Amino acid sequence: QLPLKVPITLPNGIKYEQPTGLFINGEFVKSKEGKTVDVIDPSTEKLITPIYEAFQDDVDIAVAAAKKAFHSNWSQLEPEARAKSLFKLADLIEENSELLASIESMDNGKSLTCSRGDVDLVSKYLRSCAGWADKLNGNVINTGKDHFAYTTREPLGVCGQIIPWNFPLLMWSWKIGPALATGNTVVLKPAENTPLSALFASQLCKEAGIPNGVVNIIPGSGRIVGESLCKHPDIKKIAFTGSTRTGSHIMKTAADTIKKVTLELGGKSPNIVFADADLDKAVKDIAFGIFYNSGEVCCAGSRVYVQDSVYEEVLQKFKAYTETLKVGNPFDESNFQGAQTSKQQLSKILDYVKIGTKEGARVITGGERCGKNGYFVKPTIFADVKEDMKIVKEEIFGPIVTVSKFSTVDEVVSMANDSQYGLAAGIHTKDVNKAIDVSNRLNAGTIWINTYNAFHQNVPFGGFGQSGIGREMGAAALDNYTQVKSVRMAI
Ligand code: NAD
Repeated sequence: QLPLKVPITLPNGIKYEQPTGLFINGEFVKSKEGKTVDVIDPSTEKLITPIYEAFQDDVDIAVAAAKKAFHSNWSQLEPEARAKSLFKLADLIEENSELLASIESMDNGKSLTCSRGDVDLVSKYLRSCAGWADKLNGNVINTGKDHFAYTTREPLGVCGQIIPWNFPLLMWSWKIGPALATGNTVVLKPAENTPLSALFASQLCKEAGIPNGVVNIIPGSGRIVGESLCKHPDIKKIAFTGSTRTGSHIMKTAADTIKKVTLELGGKSPNIVFADADLDKAVKDIAFGIFYNSGEVCCAGSRVYVQDSVYEEVLQKFKAYTETLKVGNPFDESNFQGAQTSKQQLSKILDYVKIGTKEGARVITGGERCGKNGYFVKPTIFADVKEDMKIVKEEIFGPIVTVSKFSTVDEVVSMANDSQYGLAAGIHTKDVNKAIDVSNRLNAGTIWINTYNAFHQNVPFGGFGQSGIGREMGAAALDNYTQVKSVRMAI
């Protein structure tokens, strides 16, 4: 029988106790069926630990706990009390930051530097949410001489939250932060292959004084646990981050019970370099845009567009700079890039290399696996691409970038917008007017000018088109977790 906590020594020597149970009603428990699933370290392909796997019965128990906590407790608390717990949770994340970053690197394969950045944003974001808890104001509306109206914002109830494997702890915070600040309770399902950091952090919720049942974490498959959350009549909202295909399926499933749905989905984001940009800086930005987090980023700048007069120069600089980026052991801090998160991801990425080559594109660097152990891929640049190639159209979710040539602003705007997605876009130029003009014309929820993948807890993030519905972070995220009540009164 698997114990509910197992001792683990992380690759950097830190020792800790990893919870293996489902976190329901403030306790770690075995799943009803008692089945377990193995969690693998993607940089060694070795077993880290088995954990308990949730099924339908566990979903029902977790939802019941969250429902009880919503009505009896959390939604009724003074907003200041909710804020206090969230501030405390942010402090605890900070106090445990090196441990959490290390767990994340072992479980997901990302470099320790990347994980540290994630954990830093987790605590900042939880603090930002805590600050909003007592500022959820409504409006007073003038409706005439002898009556008036005002609005209040109320929580939704139990929220089902389904997160992916590329930013396990960060996505946990983007989901629970605004939900809890606004008085909702949650049942969250981590991705199958990266459950460890969310389980560990859930015990910090308890330590922070968040009442039992407010946060429930149930690792399990998308097909069973994810699907059950989307169908459950007591769940009022589904918040999902992941692929567009699964997002579409979730929306259809949630429609039967008219759940509110927010989706943060895929992308194929353009990153545009104009001839008047600071080219050395632009090259570093476009490399960070695609290779950061091993390319497993929904808003990765995976389509680079370079103005024709500097195309060859940028290509050469980009190749040279990319070849300085080391790939390997996530705990070796000289490595920029760690492992891909799963064997499936590794195969998918290597398949796209074959597809791109067959389509006639030219690999100018990378294009292969690194080593035989662990799911490592060299940062890869494809040049001589055509806009209708699969490698330009489809989300690869790995360290693979295509580089295309353009001559005019109109041409690049049309190329950049020729996508079903619209998550992010980058513009590199010294011309402020051009930057604003192009940003106005691009179909994307986030535009980065002379930077890329620059996140801030108070800046909303989310997609146009098939990249999603709703916004995360900033004040906009709070709207996704509240409903407006209008009260009209005669005097
Ligand atoms: P996915 O969208 O299938 O999985 C994301 C989450 O959804 C996981 O927790 C999964 O268990 C859950 N899920 C899966 N099927 C479900 C269902 N029927 N009902 C409810 N929940 C369900 O992504 P994946 O299969 O792990 O990865 C496939 C591709 O998705 C990747 O290669 C990448 O292109 C994309 N992706 C995008 C993001 C993003 O942040 N936009 C994140 C992860 C993956």
